[in-house]
Amino acid sequence: MSRLDLKGIGMTSQRTRERLIQRLVDQGISDQRVLDVMAITPRHLFLDEAMAHRAYEDVALPIGFQQTLSQPYIVGRMTELLLEGGTPERVLEIGTGSGYQTAILAQLVGELYSVERIKPLQQKARQRMRQLKLRNVHMNHADGGMGWAERGPFDGILAAAAPERIPEELLRQLAPGGRLVMPVGGATQHLQIVDRTNEGFETTIVEEVRFVPLRPGTVR
Ligand code: SAH
Repeated sequence: MSRLDLKGIGMTSQRTRERLIQRLVDQGISDQRVLDVMAITPRHLFLDEAMAHRAYEDVALPIGFQQTLSQPYIVGRMTELLLEGGTPERVLEIGTGSGYQTAILAQLVGELYSVERIKPLQQKARQRMRQLKLRNVHMNHADGGMGWAERGPFDGILAAAAPERIPEELLRQLAPGGRLVMPVGGATQHLQIVDRTNEGFETTIVEEVRFVPLRPGTVR
């Protein structure tokens, strides 16, 4: 787990951030660890300047390359589902994007392995991790649908892009006792949880969501 270094980072007013956290609570986010971390993580750092003034609204925002920074509600929801029942030591994140979800997770888990297919997004996210001194984040430029076999198995897997079906490879890289949280589907998507037990895999459908599609291959 890492601690944020906020020296020299302009934060918006405490009240603006508190309002966002209250909104998350109102929508049912209840894990205090998650709320605490979201309250201190400067979301505006993960946006280009033109968008930064909207950073504390509970909406998804564009980050270029037709991708979006996830809505705070869904970041909070997925994070609390991943942490339910304990603190995962090794976590795989698919779709680093801006790195916002990455920064939240890095403060709550042991080691975080984050895969992104679009190189320029990954480079910016990497800088942000350095700026925040989050040292337990390991990044890979690759197709996250294949997981990150060399670093697995993982106690937790979380994805911010939706495949039509959960790739077998990800299930293989889930450790016994581990949990996967990801959106699945096409025109209609649902957030799904897969728990790996000693008997096999247990799937739970959580709620309808809207994510960018998980796409094959990489972009330089
Ligand atoms: N949590 C991120 C979400 C970014 S949007 C944030 O809040 O900023 C989803 C990201 O998944 C995009 O950056 C997209 O490029 C990436 N992505 C899509 N398919 C992928 C794949 N197969 N492997 C890795 N990343 C992928």
